Amino acid sequence: MDIEPGQTKCCDECGSDYLAAASQMSHLCPECAHWLYGYPRCGHEFAEGRCSKCGWDGSVSAYLRTLQAQAAVNTSSNEAMQRTRSAGR
Ligand SMILES: [Zn+2]
Ligand SMILES: [Zn+2]
Repeated sequence: MDIEPGQTKCCDECGSDYLAAASQMSHLCPECAHWLYGYPRCGHEFAEGRCSKCGWDGSVSAYLRTLQAQAAVNTSSNEAMQRTRSAGR
């Protein structure tokens, strides 16, 4: 299960290629891993249509679009949740 540097994978969710080393999920790009599982988000730096850090090409699945729309509406409750999480230790 070693990940070679520079190895790319295809994201199960959005279908974008991404750098395997950049994501903590084995089948999700960092962007989808963030939205679906709360992993740290990549500070994408786009060059020639894809992120130079994680390789994500900007694809967003319909499901993720829904999550993002909900997050935009519920930004305040999201922040409250994060505060509760960090205060709970
Ligand atoms: Zn993805
Ligand atoms: Zn990125």
